[in-house]
Amino acid sequence: MQSVDLIIAPRWLLPIEPANTVLEHHAIAIKNGKIVAIQPAEIMRVNYTTKEYIELLNHVLMPGFVNTHTHAAMNLLRGLCDDIPLMDWLNNYIWPAEKKWLSEAFIHDGTQLAIAEMIKSGTTCFNDMYFFVPAAVKAAEEAGIRAALGITVFDVPTPCGDNAQDYLNRGLPLFEQYKNHPLIQLTMAPHAIYTSSDATLVEVRKAAERYNAYINMHVQETHDEIEQSIAKTGKRPLERLHALGLLSDKFIAIHMTQITPEEIELSAKTKISVVHCPESNMKLASGICPAQQFLNAGVNVALGTDGAASNNDLDMISEMRSAAFLSKLSEKNPTTVSAITALTMATLNGAKALGKDKIFGSLIEGKAADMIAIDLHHVNTAPAYHPTSALVYAANRHQVSDVWVAGKRLLDNHRLTTIDEIALLDNIERWERRISSN
Ligand SMILES: [Zn+2]
Repeated sequence: MQSVDLIIAPRWLLPIEPANTVLEHHAIAIKNGKIVAIQPAEIMRVNYTTKEYIELLNHVLMPGFVNTHTHAAMNLLRGLCDDIPLMDWLNNYIWPAEKKWLSEAFIHDGTQLAIAEMIKSGTTCFNDMYFFVPAAVKAAEEAGIRAALGITVFDVPTPCGDNAQDYLNRGLPLFEQYKNHPLIQLTMAPHAIYTSSDATLVEVRKAAERYNAYINMHVQETHDEIEQSIAKTGKRPLERLHALGLLSDKFIAIHMTQITPEEIELSAKTKISVVHCPESNMKLASGICPAQQFLNAGVNVALGTDGAASNNDLDMISEMRSAAFLSKLSEKNPTTVSAITALTMATLNGAKALGKDKIFGSLIEGKAADMIAIDLHHVNTAPAYHPTSALVYAANRHQVSDVWVAGKRLLDNHRLTTIDEIALLDNIERWERRISSN
């Protein structure tokens, strides 16, 4: 008999890999933070002894969600300003508020709030694009969540840099600092084509090559962005990025609305990943990412919530439902973005976008035990004929009961184990008073 640290026996096990698999009455064995076996529960009991055995009679166990685009600390700006277009929202509300408030404390506390919200709704890894990366890393380390964090680059000054070179000078040493971190990955994050010159983008590409890093960027988020790029350079943003040599399998294009057939072809050819953020795109009326068309062309499409200031939550279950509904409506075809496709986009495809699909994103032997349990014994998910349907079309985030990252339990029967939720909310209330009184 082999001994392991933990065996979990859920009602349903949804490994995501192999595709379209739902296992019933199976169990999963974990040792040193990794999955060592998935077997029928009866057989597991014969083959393994364990320090801890958890039976989840009404639950689906699945890989944790990978929120492939967010600005975590913007949780502190949630609800500050709604119901206006993107550029008005950025120029007149968000950027002035950031100028006034951004600090290490803001980033740490805002990121902690975002992480608490993400863990409670089943996210085990988030891909962040914001400022003061060490303060965000600290919040992630304290919570035990997995994260990719972008070195943000702008041409314009912010509280975190004066110009593109200054952002690079401050950010690049972090690659060395976190290079062996078990849960933290750094990326390059030029904000967008309208905030980065071509020269800056070339510098970003060179830095990414030097550190073997992925590049995240908002691309073709709005019609205005495309028009501005054409007026300035004669090229659409994606075409311009291709000409500058940025597009590769290490490029993560966020949003990608108003896409031409040629751009789908170019995306497939250059092997970029696309991050679809349907709720942010709907709220800001930015446009629609043709997710199923990208998938049909062989492009990896992941899901992101975007920041809480434009969504206004970090709820990957509702994001899956929105992705499915928006695709069906926009394509006038109810077969597009099926439940299992949405679940795959929200998990494995996020890990693929970050180049980490050999480490997490599905439940198979050898991968990290990044797992969530969702309780389907609720009036809104009964009867559960098909757990994938229940998860995408009927469940809500409050049904996420347990979360593990690398085998460590971060949510234990709905209770956060690494964050003091009462103290966190008290602290956020202090921020709310400070920000609203100005
Ligand atoms: Zn964004």
